[in-house]
Amino acid sequence: MEFVDLHTHSHASDGSDSPAELVQHAAAAQLSAVALTDHDTISGLAEAEAEGRVQGIEVIRGCELSVASVYGEIHILGLWIPSDKNSVQELETQMYALRAHRTERNHIIVKKLQQLGLHIDYDDVLEAAAGETVGRPHIAKVLVSKGYVPTIKDAFGIYLGSDGKAYEAKKVWEMEQAVTQLVRIGATVSMAHPGLIHCPFEWLDTTVGQLKALGLSAIEAYHSDHTAAAEADCVRLAKKYDLALSGGSDYHGTAKPHISLGKGRGGLRVPLYILEVLKKQRQEKGLPI
Ligand code: AMP
Ligand code: ZN
Ligand code: FE
Ligand code: FE
Repeated sequence: MEFVDLHTHSHASDGSDSPAELVQHAAAAQLSAVALTDHDTISGLAEAEAEGRVQGIEVIRGCELSVASVYGEIHILGLWIPSDKNSVQELETQMYALRAHRTERNHIIVKKLQQLGLHIDYDDVLEAAAGETVGRPHIAKVLVSKGYVPTIKDAFGIYLGSDGKAYEAKKVWEMEQAVTQLVRIGATVSMAHPGLIHCPFEWLDTTVGQLKALGLSAIEAYHSDHTAAAEADCVRLAKKYDLALSGGSDYHGTAKPHISLGKGRGGLRVPLYILEVLKKQRQEKGLPI
């Protein structure tokens, strides 16, 4: 049986592998295809694709966008992001603005940490980040390396998480803006890890319906942090709204050491037919694969 992984992060955002290393790891894990879906940037895609040609593994160009909802952030995956500059110009402009906001936010978080008596500079954060998108996981890494907390998880628990002492909210896309932007450029839009939203099922049901009306194509049923019940809910909603299923580990390398590429926490396996269904759906819409 052949397997794929349609949700991964490189050091272009908050993963630890370079895009090429990530593709090498995917090939070593004998995956048939891997999608690189970094937060707020598509800067790692060309390198990943080039390595895909070297390794003989299919690389799908993706990204992950955070959108606002009454139950907090929802994540949206765009798959098959076009490679020509003109098509992605507007997307890149919007991503650039969000990354600029991240910089302001990161400075505020560092300031709050300093006011709490921690010796941390913004330069430390930049050093911990290799790519365009800098976020809390990089700040967490600095806090661990300086010995202020034992683990990344503790860094979030004590300082960076929504109940943390140095928390600062992030500006995100409006749901409609993100989905319509991705649809406009011909990407396949999938709702990422719906099981991680702390919301009543009825609200999720309504929201999936709204997203479908905007052009949602798929729902990420298979994810490292999904329970069997969350997976079943996603499959149920996919049937109800005639959506395809997608799946991925949300691999971040050493930034989330418990998650392996293609295997998640150990039990995740996304069969190749999941990708084949997504491709068939694109072909039916006349979109390139
Ligand atoms: P940011 O985009 O800067 O808001 O950071 C979000 C990233 O932090 C995502 O990749 C999350 O998976 C990660 N994250 C959020 N909470 C935690 C946590 N408690 N432990 C580890 N990583 C976390
Ligand atoms: Zn991430
Ligand atoms: Fe996510
Ligand atoms: Fe992710």
